[in-house]
Amino acid sequence: MVRQIAVLGATGSIGASTLDVIQRHPNRYRPAVLAANRSVDEMERLCRLHAPDHAVMGDPEAAQALAEKLKDQTATEVSSGAAMLDQLVSAPAVDTVVAGIVGFAGLRATLSAAGAGKTILLANKEALVSAGGLFMDAVKRGGAALLPVDSEHNAMHQCLPTDARGRPQMHHVEKIILTASGGPFRGRTRASLTEVTPEEACAHPNWSMGQKISVDSATLANKGLELAEACWLFDRTPDQIDIVVHPQSIVHSMIRYCDGSVLAQLGQPDMRTPIAYCLGWPDRVAAGVAPLDLVSTGRLDFEAPDMTAFPCLALAKRAITQPGGMCVFSAANEVAVAAFLAREIRFTEIDVVIANALEAVTLSEPKSLDAVQTLDKEARSAAAQAVAQIASLNERHEKEQ
Ligand code: NDP
Ligand code: MG
Repeated sequence: MVRQIAVLGATGSIGASTLDVIQRHPNRYRPAVLAANRSVDEMERLCRLHAPDHAVMGDPEAAQALAEKLKDQTATEVSSGAAMLDQLVSAPAVDTVVAGIVGFAGLRATLSAAGAGKTILLANKEALVSAGGLFMDAVKRGGAALLPVDSEHNAMHQCLPTDARGRPQMHHVEKIILTASGGPFRGRTRASLTEVTPEEACAHPNWSMGQKISVDSATLANKGLELAEACWLFDRTPDQIDIVVHPQSIVHSMIRYCDGSVLAQLGQPDMRTPIAYCLGWPDRVAAGVAPLDLVSTGRLDFEAPDMTAFPCLALAKRAITQPGGMCVFSAANEVAVAAFLAREIRFTEIDVVIANALEAVTLSEPKSLDAVQTLDKEARSAAAQAVAQIASLNERHEKEQ
């Protein structure tokens, strides 16, 4: 049986890696649904290449433009909107959903897939982090299988025994060791980071990724999100997880057992490996990734994260312990990163925006999708206010000089 896959975020970096692996196994996998937001030209190219049954654009105007371009391709039905995507990812025609939409925008469709009991390949960590309780409940109630694509969590999954639905078994686990590359600014002081550009922040030394997660890697906000992600996926508290910087990004994370054994998963920094693991699970399939050559890698280094130069990690560690804290952290981070990419605020002001939002919003555990959406909205508006204040202060300061 060929597995029918919905690739959400098909035009992004995770989407491209997923489609690359799928294409290597036409007898096993078929991209039945492709979803994106506004990238019409790239979506047209993908639809011509893969001939999915459905192409869904978040933006209705983009969907119209795509439908116009694909007039001659009757195999693909073009539609738009979140409700349509919910319907398609829940339909019996889809077996597996790759959650590769960036940010909070990916939550709704991923929740629908969980509720419908699909196999979910989860890249969209923001959805899990913002609505962890709700999300894990939906997975349980729907009987979904949840497989982590994020390379660190994928490594943890690979180093743990699992049950028939892919649920990790945590007996005898003493610690999870979450590795971090340290990003492009590892070793720099905070003072030296005030003038770094979006281009410098997005130039990750090891991974090629979308802009948002690249900036998150540079601020270490990504590691904060991943700490929360690991707590939900592996039913841990933050003190059961250590964070270690490993600049080569070859060891993707480790599990320490009670007998002192430490199991690690190693591999090239190429997302096709964790994606292929999730697609193949519990079997293995080829990913097209070059073999790991440890002799040419030479050395594997480990060091402690610098929480002073990169305060986002400390902010996340605190937010994890507060009800709804990570929903606010993640939403404010999205707003701050967008403002940094638009050159409205400095790199070192991203954490200031997050801290302001965490102060401004009254925190409480969101118990429904509505409640999560409300908390996300409040956090975004608090963050936007902080961005506006910082931007106007910066402008005044520049004029004075
Ligand atoms: P990209 O920016 O490369 O791609 C984002 C994708 O999401 C695009 O296809 C975009 O469509 C789509 N999208 C954005 N908003 C919407 C919306 N409202 N409706 C439908 N589609 C939407 O991001 P990445 O691929 O880098 O990251 C995706 C997710 O995976 C993130 O949550 C990230 O944290 C996670 N992740 C990524 C890794 C990586 O190596 N890239 C590693 C681990 C996790 P469009 O092009 O039309 O805007
Ligand atoms: Mg990761």
